[in-house]
Amino acid sequence: MNYLGTRGEPPVGLEQALLAGLAPDGGLYMPETLPAFGPEDFDGLDTLPDVGKRLLTQFFADSALAPELAAICGEAFDFPVPCVSLDANGGRLSVLELFHGPTAAFKDVGARFLAACMQRLSSAAPAAEHRPLTIMVATSGDTGGAVAAAFHGRPGFRVVILYPDGQVSPRQAHQLSCWGDNVLTLAVDGAFDDCQALVKQAFGHAGLRTAHRLCSANSINIGRLLPQMVYYAAAGLWTLRAHGEPASFVIPAGNLGNALGAILAREVGLPVARVHLATNENRTIPDFLRDGEYTPRASVATLASAMDVGAPSNMERLRALYPDFDHLRTQVTADSVSDDAIREQIRRDHARRGQVWCPHTATAACAWERLPIAERERPWVLVATAHPAKFESVVEPLIGETVDVPPALAALLDRPAHRTRIGADLDAVAEALAHWSGGGDA
Ligand SMILES: *Cc1c(COP(=O)(O)O)cnc(C)c1O
Repeated sequence: MNYLGTRGEPPVGLEQALLAGLAPDGGLYMPETLPAFGPEDFDGLDTLPDVGKRLLTQFFADSALAPELAAICGEAFDFPVPCVSLDANGGRLSVLELFHGPTAAFKDVGARFLAACMQRLSSAAPAAEHRPLTIMVATSGDTGGAVAAAFHGRPGFRVVILYPDGQVSPRQAHQLSCWGDNVLTLAVDGAFDDCQALVKQAFGHAGLRTAHRLCSANSINIGRLLPQMVYYAAAGLWTLRAHGEPASFVIPAGNLGNALGAILAREVGLPVARVHLATNENRTIPDFLRDGEYTPRASVATLASAMDVGAPSNMERLRALYPDFDHLRTQVTADSVSDDAIREQIRRDHARRGQVWCPHTATAACAWERLPIAERERPWVLVATAHPAKFESVVEPLIGETVDVPPALAALLDRPAHRTRIGADLDAVAEALAHWSGGGDA
């Protein structure tokens, strides 16, 4: 399978798309063709590794990674992703819990899959290339931790994380800084946009790029998108088998990477019905779906901070998939949820069901409740993107209780934190890299 850039760049193989991240002209890679499945193609397959291997085989065809796909799926999908039925709508409402990975957010799935792919590509490289690759990521909170966890201790890789000092939750900050070894954490005196700009500048600086073999692992990488199809495929199959109908999903959305997994799973024939996006007060997507005018804008800060995105990067993929706007708006719908509504949803669902949401997942629960009653009859799945313990400073005052910390997160919070504070300029990044002995090839 080849991958085409959304801006017209000619197709490349999977390896090149994975290692480059972005096409040379700034476009995003999309599969050149989409395979066609029916649910019967997955008869007897139930677990994420099994569904993943079946689903992704054609996406890996002709790639050096093809023989490794089963091992990659086994390595990436090694934590539970349960679809838990809620006592509502006769058991036809459930929650897909994507937060049981090492950093308690769905980004663990994509980061671990990408790391498993890159590890195999780098060990297949010629011996002359055996200097470590440096994965550089800007993060507003969750991506950096997931990428660090996925690459920590992997031979041949170093990770550099840039995050806005003071602008992530205390537990997120700890999770970004608790690695050491081959991970360098830079707390930047600036905003997330400054961190992103610095990463862009570093990639644009030929000296830095070649000296450190810079490589990206951000959320637009096709190696993160492909595995995100897998849990939608599995949840769709589970729902079809349990209720005789395909699953509809409410998905908390920021850059749209997670939701695109559901949309692609439906495109290739998996039992996915509606895809309804829940955004916070960053209304770019709902506004676009209402009037067809796409207006990227500056982000506004909300309680669901991992979705504070004003210019969703995967919009370009969505529009490439459905160039006709009238068609596009039949494929996906969206609703925007305010901070007040997030608070109210967390409070209410705790009181009536004992259910505790993270602020991101609360947008999905709220958007589902706002659907017309007749529409809510079909089997719906709320997508839970993070564990509430990661955002305890928002959640605990609302529910008046402490949220239990899952063991994987507790283990990270026990590790000592190391971070280097730098100003928001490229010289400071270059200097921090030059003085860093971490990782080496170990
Ligand atoms: C990243 C993130 C999102 C948004 O996902 P996108 O793929 O950017 O739409 C939602 N919730 C949490 C907890 C996240 O970390």
